[in-house]
Amino acid sequence: MKAAVNHGLMDVRVDNVPDPRIEKPTDAICRVTKCSICGTDLHIYHGRFPLKEGDCVGHEFIGYVEEVGSEVKSFKKGDKVLSPFWISCGQCYFCKKGLTTSCLYGGCFGFGDILGGNPGCQAEYVRVPLADGTLVKVPESLADDSNDERVLFIGDNIATGYHGAVKGEIRPGDVVAVLGDGAVGLFATYCATLFNPSKVFTIGHHDDRLKIAKKYGADITINSLKEDPSEKIKAETDGRGADVIIEGVGTTDSLQSSIQLVRAGGTVSFIGLFYEPFPMNMTDFFLRNLNLRGGVAPSRGYASKLLSIVEAKKLDPTHIVYSLPLDQAAEGYKLMDQRKEGAIKVVLSP
Ligand SMILES: [Zn+2]
Ligand SMILES: [Zn+2]
Repeated sequence: MKAAVNHGLMDVRVDNVPDPRIEKPTDAICRVTKCSICGTDLHIYHGRFPLKEGDCVGHEFIGYVEEVGSEVKSFKKGDKVLSPFWISCGQCYFCKKGLTTSCLYGGCFGFGDILGGNPGCQAEYVRVPLADGTLVKVPESLADDSNDERVLFIGDNIATGYHGAVKGEIRPGDVVAVLGDGAVGLFATYCATLFNPSKVFTIGHHDDRLKIAKKYGADITINSLKEDPSEKIKAETDGRGADVIIEGVGTTDSLQSSIQLVRAGGTVSFIGLFYEPFPMNMTDFFLRNLNLRGGVAPSRGYASKLLSIVEAKKLDPTHIVYSLPLDQAAEGYKLMDQRKEGAIKVVLSP
């Protein structure tokens, strides 16, 4: 089969690789109808998380169950499914608590040996370990392939945005500021609106993306290359700062800005993947009673809620889609890496 494969620094190629097969009775093989490139994949692309040459990449897909192992009970050949980026058993202490990304037997797709050694899904087929605990059935009303781009991001980017809002513990009337205008920041903007804030700011670097943030419910957008977010947020909060910040970039600069923009006693919820240590001024943290929360989204637990939102057409994820055939994965990585206008989220069709 064809699959996007890591060949080192900024070098992803579509190669012919062996077809996946059932290795354990709890496995399923899925035929991928759509998969996507995530901002996190760009970390691999830039060598911040070094994979081996030949590792298949990708961790967000939708498709059909093609084959199941003898112990898979909830799925059969032909079922339309989406997959969270994280494999989970559904049975262990953490899975039962809904923290599927801490599953004792889990791991991520497409992250090489760093996160469990599971091949990625930017491919024609993918092996899904622990299929019963991992996969999510797509409801009949969304199961047609024409809906794939609406459903696909529930496995990762929409769930991550939602996690940011949940972890932010937004209360009705709060002022929320989202840092980041990539897919996660835009979906976090939408998800923040579900908690009845009085105002949502979206802060980013790209006017084209900030325009889309408005479609997802941002009341005020700020291009921080042109304007000072601190002044604008203070002007709306009697000088206090935002009640909740959702940090969706994952860089030191962005988290530091978040801590500056939040009010005393407020919450910074971070959902961008960090790849470097973060220096923290604990005195400031202490004196201002800040709450710093965040982490990797247990997306499987959010899937049914998010499916119902997409089903009801309250959220249209397709505003950010840029479609390419799987064969052009290398081009897709380049476009996303260059923040090319219109290519916020590259979706690949095998
Ligand atoms: Zn991702
Ligand atoms: Zn588990």
